[in-house]
Amino acid sequence: MTKAYIDGQWHDSARHFAVANPATHETLAQVPDMGAEDAREAIAAADRAFAGWRKKAAKERAALLRRWFEAIMAHQEELAQLMTLEQGKPLAESRGEVAYGASFVEYFAEEAKRIAGETLPGHGADKRILVFREPVGVVTAITPWNFPLAMITRKCAPALAAGCSVVIKPAEATPLTALALAKLAEEAGLPAGVLNVITASTGAEIGEVLSTDARVRKISFTGSTPVGKKLLAQCADTVKKASMELGGNAPFIVFDDADIDAAVEGALLSKYRNTGQTCVCTNRFLVQDNVYETFLEKLATRVKALKVGNGMEDGVVQGPLINQAAVEKVQTHIGDALDKGGRLVCGGKTHALGGTFFEPTVIADATPDMRVAREETFGPLAPVFRFTTEEEAVALANATEFGLAAYFYARDYRRIWHVSESLEYGMVAVNEGHLSTELAPFGGVKESGLGREGSRYGLEEFTELKYVCIGSL
Ligand code: ADP
Repeated sequence: MTKAYIDGQWHDSARHFAVANPATHETLAQVPDMGAEDAREAIAAADRAFAGWRKKAAKERAALLRRWFEAIMAHQEELAQLMTLEQGKPLAESRGEVAYGASFVEYFAEEAKRIAGETLPGHGADKRILVFREPVGVVTAITPWNFPLAMITRKCAPALAAGCSVVIKPAEATPLTALALAKLAEEAGLPAGVLNVITASTGAEIGEVLSTDARVRKISFTGSTPVGKKLLAQCADTVKKASMELGGNAPFIVFDDADIDAAVEGALLSKYRNTGQTCVCTNRFLVQDNVYETFLEKLATRVKALKVGNGMEDGVVQGPLINQAAVEKVQTHIGDALDKGGRLVCGGKTHALGGTFFEPTVIADATPDMRVAREETFGPLAPVFRFTTEEEAVALANATEFGLAAYFYARDYRRIWHVSESLEYGMVAVNEGHLSTELAPFGGVKESGLGREGSRYGLEEFTELKYVCIGSL
């Protein structure tokens, strides 16, 4: 589908923008370039639909979500191909993302039936306290290009399960996957207006409406920290609830008691997945003195073997970066690190394939004064820092305004407990390189965000408590 989806209708607009394949630069489609008026129309549709949707029996909402899940899985291959075409990630990763994204729809279809309130002891013999859990209302979702499918389902499935209606504004680079999801929701029988998708070539104009319109009660955003801060400020006037999944600066600590081979496996997964373009990708490797050279050598050997290319081709594990700005950021971080004494171990430049393909890179002897120590690279660059003591590792890991994901490898059980408790992060992976699942609460602390997605905590974000006091009994 190449039209936007408002109130159960496929909408075109006067202006369009091109969606391009980042591997080949071919134009895939033209989609409507919508503006503030379209955003208000979508919100009006969601507002009308909310009344009926919230009143449906939870079991009915659950059944419709289940059908959406089945429709997504029945089209797993087409969705994966579409995602690789517009986003660039290797086909195997796209297939994984469809399954991961669908798992939120499956899980929240089940949980829709378990949204329960409670009764509390009253404050007088003649009084009773009831606590209801109600849907917050119309929800808007602004999503990024790095997970074109899963970032939508992770927000929409719990919102819909709770009884909210949704307006989605997908990233300008990847609107086609979002529109395909809407098509499948339509086929699954979701009522008109319950789920709407509007497309635009830039985020600001529509973002302003989605974060300021009084009919919207909650915004859920995944993207960069500066945009998240702006949206949060815009929400203040109408006191909206907000969930923010923002940037990270993930440390990956390798202690000297770790299984080094397992750490290298985890390192590859956490750093180079999606060509380094995930908010939980490792940004800094911190390695203890006496295993530093061993880890570095093993990591570099594996990184040199990563096959770069068009994600549609067999065996490719590193697709292109999303655009030229992404390439420039990686180049800037590499240049800065080398100027400040970093040692280039492998990679370091754009790939011979041209375009936005980039060589997977490892830089040793990284130091805290480098930009890679403070800023998220969002690309295939692994800077490796050295430390001596556990306290030093924790201090280095926490020396950032971000706090999304952290990883560490160790065997000593005391160390595993102490370090897990000392890391100022929303998520800590111990002897694991991958932690995303619909069963766990995903989210960050500090400037990495607000709120959680996935698990029952992710469902609570879309509910509001209502206290009813029954007196004079
Ligand atoms: P990224 O660097 O990953 O592209 P962005 O935060 O720019 O991160 O983009 C994430 C999402 O936010 C996209 O859907 C984008 O269109 C949207 N966006 C960008 N700027 C704004 C803005 N000023 N207001 C609202 N949404 C925006």
